[in-house]
Amino acid sequence: MTHPAQPKASHFINGEYVEDTAGTPIPVIYAATGEQIATVHAATPAIVEQALSTAKAAQKAWARMTGTERGRILRRAADIMRARNHDLSVLETYDTGKPLQETLVADATSGADALEYFGGLAASLTGEHIPLGEDWVYTKREALGLCVGIGAWNYPTQIACWKGAPALACGNSMVFKPSETTPLCALKVAEILIEAGAPAGVFNVVQGMGEVGGALVTDPRVDKVSLTGSVPTGKKVYAAAAEGMKHVTMELGGKSPLIIFDDADIDNAVGGAINGNFYSSGQVCSNGTRVFVQKGIKEKFLARLAERTGNAILGDPMDEATSFGPMVTENQMNIVLGYIEKGKEEGARLICGGKRADMDGYFIEPTVFADVTDDMTIAREEIFGPVMSVLDFDTEEEVVARANDTEFGLSAGVFTKDFTRAHRVIGNLEAGSCFINSYNDAPVEAPFGGVKASGVGRENSKEAIKHFSQVKSVYVRMGDVEAAF
Ligand code: NAD
Repeated sequence: MTHPAQPKASHFINGEYVEDTAGTPIPVIYAATGEQIATVHAATPAIVEQALSTAKAAQKAWARMTGTERGRILRRAADIMRARNHDLSVLETYDTGKPLQETLVADATSGADALEYFGGLAASLTGEHIPLGEDWVYTKREALGLCVGIGAWNYPTQIACWKGAPALACGNSMVFKPSETTPLCALKVAEILIEAGAPAGVFNVVQGMGEVGGALVTDPRVDKVSLTGSVPTGKKVYAAAAEGMKHVTMELGGKSPLIIFDDADIDNAVGGAINGNFYSSGQVCSNGTRVFVQKGIKEKFLARLAERTGNAILGDPMDEATSFGPMVTENQMNIVLGYIEKGKEEGARLICGGKRADMDGYFIEPTVFADVTDDMTIAREEIFGPVMSVLDFDTEEEVVARANDTEFGLSAGVFTKDFTRAHRVIGNLEAGSCFINSYNDAPVEAPFGGVKASGVGRENSKEAIKHFSQVKSVYVRMGDVEAAF
């Protein structure tokens, strides 16, 4: 019998499901059991062509609709997503392995927030009037045209919506390529947009590996590329986009610092460290994986952290009591286990976890290392799994310098009761998305994105509008034209 997660077809183009079985089969594996639950096919060149030409053809008419009309469609899509939250969350759990306890509140709901927020903004995109004596200039905020979205595997519904909603609000069309690891959820986003009244062709989904992504990025019809992925992929995609002088948004990896001063409320700081390392089993780009703890509270912090981490419930992700799921794939599990071994070899002190869980599926125990030093591999490289490194520090000046000593700059957090210090420290940290006495909140109203190697551009908030539109300026002369001859 066909598994309920199996989509009707691999791709969604021009308002309908499309199949081409000549494309390489991509198995969809449920991470909690290792069972194959669905198959999709990578896009063939014919499918890529169909998606791009459709999106190109649909864009102009979509941009000519009023913002109010476009916004109404996006807001209707948000309502449909919320009404179907349970089914969409179950699918997200099949796609990623993340526990239903999380997906019910963080995926389709976050996608719906983006559709609602950008739907609400669509009608307010206006230009300026600039008086110049009798003459004047007016500006128009126009769509970029055809946008390509490329997703990572940790938040397949959210990423499709965080890219699709602002793109569509501004009058662009989009071809979205999900990660080959999690191809299912974006198809539902495309389906829902059509149901909400979006014209066929404005939001299309094609499947495939990096090769398909590359074909989309290099096509001359494409005006913008928005990627969520790793730094090495980001460098390749940014370079390819530059060849065609295309706009880019790059949401890439991180190795973010979470700084805990000894006046911090310990339980809140432990809660922040847990949210910033173990949510989605650590598969979150903005995670605060370098937890700097001031020496005075180190042992107290570690004891409370180990105690609370021991309360994680590993198990069937579809059971709402489960609070900690598997790694997305066997490969990702092995990468993370490799880092754990490196941590042990390089002399970090294992506080808890440190191995694969004794159960089916790709589960790794939530792992905490203490006495981590700045040069250890686990303190330098993005692990993308449930491995927290706790480092000690003495002074504010020292911790800020060490926190910034990385190629990444996605997020940063600070826990302290001294608010003057909190703002001063955040002001000195090289990061795009920061937190004071909290960690990893990502409301659609707030800009999200990184500095340094962690990215270019911002998602969410009014900032995202700037990255999916461009300004045209128009000089209007009221009098005669003076010319030299
Ligand atoms: P990845 O870089 O391996 O792949 C990302 C996407 O790029 C996939 O869809 C992949 O098929 C595609 N791709 C690969 N090569 C390509 C190429 N040459 N041209 C075009 N597309 C190509 O990343 P991943 O393993 O799927 O995701 C994990 C990474 O994503 C981590 O580094 C994580 O930090 C990052 N991430 C960042 C954010 C953020 O918002 N900053 C969010 C989630 C994940």
